[in-house]
Amino acid sequence: MSENNLKSDIAFSDLNLPEAIQKAVTEQGYEQPSPIQAEAIPALLEGRDLLGQAQTGTGKTAAFALPLLANIDPNNRAPQLLILAPTRELAIQVAEACQQYAKHLKGVNVLPIYGGQSYTIQLKQLNRGAQVVVGTPGRVMDHMRRKTLSLNGLKALVLDEADEMLRMGFIDDVKWVLEQSPPDRQIALFSATMPREVKRVADQHLQDPVHIKIANKTATAANISQRYWIVRGFHKLDAITRILESEESEGVIVFVRTKNATAELADKLSARGFRSDALNGDIPQANREKIIDRLRNGKLDILVATDVVARGLDVERISHVINYDVPHDTESYIHRIGRTGRAGRSGKAILFVAPREKRMLFSIERATKQPIEPMDLPSIADINKSRVDRFKDSILATINTENLDFFSQMITELQQGSEVSSEQIAAAAAFMAQGETSLVLDEAAMAREAKSTHSSAGFDRSDKERGRGDRGGRNERSGRGDRGERRERSYVDKPVPNKQATPLKEHPDVPMQRFRLDVGRRNQVKPGNIVGAIANEAELESKYIGEIEIRDDYSTVDLPADMPKEVMGILRRARVAGRPLEISLFDGTAPASSDFSGERSDEPKKKSYSSKKRDRGAPGDKAGKGKSDYAQRKSNERRKG
Ligand code: AMP
Repeated sequence: MSENNLKSDIAFSDLNLPEAIQKAVTEQGYEQPSPIQAEAIPALLEGRDLLGQAQTGTGKTAAFALPLLANIDPNNRAPQLLILAPTRELAIQVAEACQQYAKHLKGVNVLPIYGGQSYTIQLKQLNRGAQVVVGTPGRVMDHMRRKTLSLNGLKALVLDEADEMLRMGFIDDVKWVLEQSPPDRQIALFSATMPREVKRVADQHLQDPVHIKIANKTATAANISQRYWIVRGFHKLDAITRILESEESEGVIVFVRTKNATAELADKLSARGFRSDALNGDIPQANREKIIDRLRNGKLDILVATDVVARGLDVERISHVINYDVPHDTESYIHRIGRTGRAGRSGKAILFVAPREKRMLFSIERATKQPIEPMDLPSIADINKSRVDRFKDSILATINTENLDFFSQMITELQQGSEVSSEQIAAAAAFMAQGETSLVLDEAAMAREAKSTHSSAGFDRSDKERGRGDRGGRNERSGRGDRGERRERSYVDKPVPNKQATPLKEHPDVPMQRFRLDVGRRNQVKPGNIVGAIANEAELESKYIGEIEIRDDYSTVDLPADMPKEVMGILRRARVAGRPLEISLFDGTAPASSDFSGERSDEPKKKSYSSKKRDRGAPGDKAGKGKSDYAQRKSNERRKG
């Protein structure tokens, strides 16, 4: 629902809805009734007929469902509320909404019935009894004719999207159903437009109806800049990491499609050092509120959420909304991005779109009547610059906020007693503060990226222009012209082949496979640790352990192909740097939890560890003896111990 439609001075608690329904509404995350709800709910609770001119997105479903559900007698199993909808999708959607709203009303059943679904199933469900039936006109009529659906006990009838039912040729069916229903039933008719035929139905069947007209305000706020990135060349996780690293941001809401994805992505972002948490419907309301408070107070920066739980969320410091998964429909997009740009601030919205989801991008642009600009992912140079800037800022912040007398004194003494300059001392202190991980990303990767062809913004411009049709191919929008197209194509035409495992020097005949390990530079893992763990746990002679590449979040290792299942099981659980190896076949592309080393994900950065070096570096082999001895000794020790 658009923001303006949400504003009303009435609270749900003012509306006289039964407690069980209010509870469900709260659980849906609705904070305030929308204008149509504020007007329709009291009228329908009173038993009045209603003529509502409102579109999807205004909250009309709850506007009729909440009061009409409240009037249902759960002890009577006969259909009491019938909702007619033009399409099967809408019928299902409305039925699901009703199920949610009725979830604390004991004994109230909601049943969707629509064409295409087996009659047997519907019959069974109808026989079991459903007080609320949501259906398409044709199928409802069929059941009525077969006497499998009786409207004798009907209290209320809703015609949802009446103009659509007219457009789809159902108006006669609708009239027939109306005529078969008891004369004293209540009617609510909703229609986005009011064509003459719909008006005539209303005039004929509605008695002294309340009229409600809600203007459709789907346009998005002008203070939100909107960009999209086509998912190509990088994994979404890498892309979002780049964006989060280099864009100035405060609170960020990341939208994903499923509950599981919220937790998964929040974990991955936390592992990458971002203060993030998940928000989904499985989290009890009280905890959800705590999480939102943490975001509000700046204790949390990133919230990974589903559409449902983030509805109506009002946190001023949200600077960015990232649509990690595309929304189901344009309305959801509008809801999502409305979470930023609050209280007159400006906001940024970013949409990740897979090539096959491009139609959604066009639909959103059409619905919001606003262009969404293509964006390039921040380069490694951009990221390095922001890392350096942040580091400098933190030094300045420390100078401004901390008492440094003790350390100043210490540095003065150090300088007096040695030949070093204060810059050198400061540099050494910065080096120590940074710890083992490098502050900036690899220069070589930077150079490779400069040569690479991963520009995402230049994707399929021709397609996009075609899709837009009515806009007549305005090339100047990105100012990129065909340059971008050519760059993109060169990437698409020449996919980087998956890397094959390198043959062993000593045993080139042994077929090898490349495996991925869930530990990387970030876990401070060294090749020697990996050799040690594999040799130890799998009792594999190290001469059979091939090339190892360490990346930021994971590593790869070449091992003999077709290792026994049990060995793989052992290796999956084996721990290095306190983390399970989680060994899995490496498919040559960066896996979902791939690292963020800055290269294109399908070009692993090579940090090869030659077998010679490894022989020296492996634990337990200080004398430089063959690793077979080492592995053997280790396994013997273990057996003894
Ligand atoms: P509708 O117009 O019925 O299709 O509703 C549009 C969307 O707004 C649905 O996803 C509803 O769940 C949501 N919605 C309905 N009422 C409210 C409310 N009072 N506050 C926040 N969201 C709502």
